[in-house]
Amino acid sequence: AAQNIEAGFLFYSEEMNRRAKEHLRIESELRHAIGNDELALYYQPKVSLRSGRIVGAEALLRWRHPERGLMTPAVFIPVAEESGLILDLGAWVLEHACRQISAWRAAGLSMPPIAINLSARQFDAGLPARIAAVLERHGVQPEQLNLEITESLLVRGTEHVVAIMNELVAMGMSLALDDFGTGYSSLAYLKKFPISTLKIDRSFVIGLPFEENDCAIARAIVTMAQQLRQEIVAEGVETPEQMRFLRELGCDQLQGYLFSPPVPEADFAAMLHEGKRL
Ligand code: C2E
Ligand code: CA
Ligand code: CA
Ligand code: CA
Repeated sequence: AAQNIEAGFLFYSEEMNRRAKEHLRIESELRHAIGNDELALYYQPKVSLRSGRIVGAEALLRWRHPERGLMTPAVFIPVAEESGLILDLGAWVLEHACRQISAWRAAGLSMPPIAINLSARQFDAGLPARIAAVLERHGVQPEQLNLEITESLLVRGTEHVVAIMNELVAMGMSLALDDFGTGYSSLAYLKKFPISTLKIDRSFVIGLPFEENDCAIARAIVTMAQQLRQEIVAEGVETPEQMRFLRELGCDQLQGYLFSPPVPEADFAAMLHEGKRL
């Protein structure tokens, strides 16, 4: 038995060692990627349940790795969060989203607001000024930009965070609370924050309309959000049955593979151009 335990420890530390090395490798490659044109934003439409039209989009980060191909954030965002590189990534995303919005407008496309994801680590007193500078440089109106934040920020929710949010909203941007229901915040507690949109997490959408618990959770979120006059977006919608259920609940917008996966900028521009109903 003693031998087994020893072997177990050995295995454990080798595994930890392997992970630490992998982590370091991703970190250094990511640092390189930011300055080396390996990052890209993909866009996923948000569709109005009333009109069937595209009324927004979420910009999602991709890494075109020279050897490993297209990588999704699950691989590198956690590393970036831990190492602090998320600040550089966040700045890159803001810059590129604004540049793209500006280019699309110049090309005559009528643009719905584009959402970017913000890490809690980006949320310091300098954030509003940093965003204002980028918007101005690209001639983009603040109303064109939506900011998706997560519950971890609210839980940390000091007066300080509320003040920064108020400043962003006063500038004309709107805030959406991402992955709603997976964290610790309650709807009552939401009143403290100037958030206009709730995004129901995909984990509750998956089971609709067959899992009773998911239905109950989705119903509760939508009902209470309506009372707080929040817009409601459901993420990860994959089936017509899920869409039907969410429509009956009174959800405002849907996002998911049923309509489109996140696509490269040219493909998204083509969708906007066609102006088709999804
Ligand atoms: P998220 O903000 O919850 O983004 C939604 C995720 O769900 C995206 O994964 C999207 O591709 C995926 N998705 C959308 N519709 C469906 C569907 O119908 N079915 C399934 N199975 N998945 C769907 P993605 O692009 O891999 O991004 C993962 C997470 O990485 C995001 O989750 C977000 O938390 C983070 N992330 C992405 N881009 C950024 C960024 O620029 N900055 C920061 N801080 N985080 C980002
Ligand atoms: Ca998001
Ligand atoms: Ca989300
Ligand atoms: Ca999610």
